[in-house]
Amino acid sequence: MLRYESVGMRYADGTTALESVSLRVPRGQFCVVLGASGAGKSTLLRMANGLTAPTRGEVWVDGTQVQASSLAAVRPRIGMVHQHFNLVPRATVATNVLSGALPGLPAWRAYLMRFPAELRERACRLVREVGLQPEHLRRRVSELSGGQQQRVGIARAFMLAPAVLLADEPVASLDPRISRDILELLRNQARERGATVLCSLHQVDLAREFADRIVALRHGLIVFDGPAGQFDEATARALYQAARPTGAAMSPGPASPRAAPSIRPVALSAGGAQ
Ligand code: ADP
Repeated sequence: MLRYESVGMRYADGTTALESVSLRVPRGQFCVVLGASGAGKSTLLRMANGLTAPTRGEVWVDGTQVQASSLAAVRPRIGMVHQHFNLVPRATVATNVLSGALPGLPAWRAYLMRFPAELRERACRLVREVGLQPEHLRRRVSELSGGQQQRVGIARAFMLAPAVLLADEPVASLDPRISRDILELLRNQARERGATVLCSLHQVDLAREFADRIVALRHGLIVFDGPAGQFDEATARALYQAARPTGAAMSPGPASPRAAPSIRPVALSAGGAQ
């Protein structure tokens, strides 16, 4: 389970990325975070593996608070898939997938990149499971298509059988048909392992198709939280229209300018939509 308790984030330059967010994502749920650019989606995700530390509130992963002193214990339990894949292009597929196991290795093994046989076997299995061929293992990542590279990214993210999978705009660099394949793969891999997924997207149709639950952020606040089926056209329009940088929307005023009148926040019990 992934839990945010009254989390806020104000960057050093004074930008408030998150106001106050409380969210519980239960084990095995595929939760999609929607919101316009700058709404705080990446900041929210990055807090779960300690890449960004909240300036207020707490983040918990399976009973451990995410903080500097717990990162070594928390990171092996969290996988991450990135928009631009974050692979090493000149390294082989095998090396990139195996690197997903580095947070769980003793320092000397990580330094020497010496992976036990069990991990090498797991990497081969994962490469097959994500739809690549054994001959891809020795290919350089730079020789693969974008869709294939994201398959490598997904295999890498599952190397340590993470309890939580963070996916930050995982299909933003891919065309629509491949995006669907990649999200299906992500969902199936997570489902088989009972992993919790927190995934930011900007495509509402894909969110509705793949999410169990949608959480929508606007200006660092949750403005919708509910089952994917309840996130209808009107709600989507309200979310993105309200985010337009018009003077009225951007300048603080007396009548709570951050409230989007036509978005219906859905109050859910702890754990949200199942
Ligand atoms: P999203 O992922 O929804 O686009 P982000 O979490 O990336 O939103 O950003 C939320 C807000 O925080 C934006 O205004 C962004 O410019 C700002 N921000 C993000 N990272 C930093 C940073 N390192 N320093 C200052 N401001 C940042």
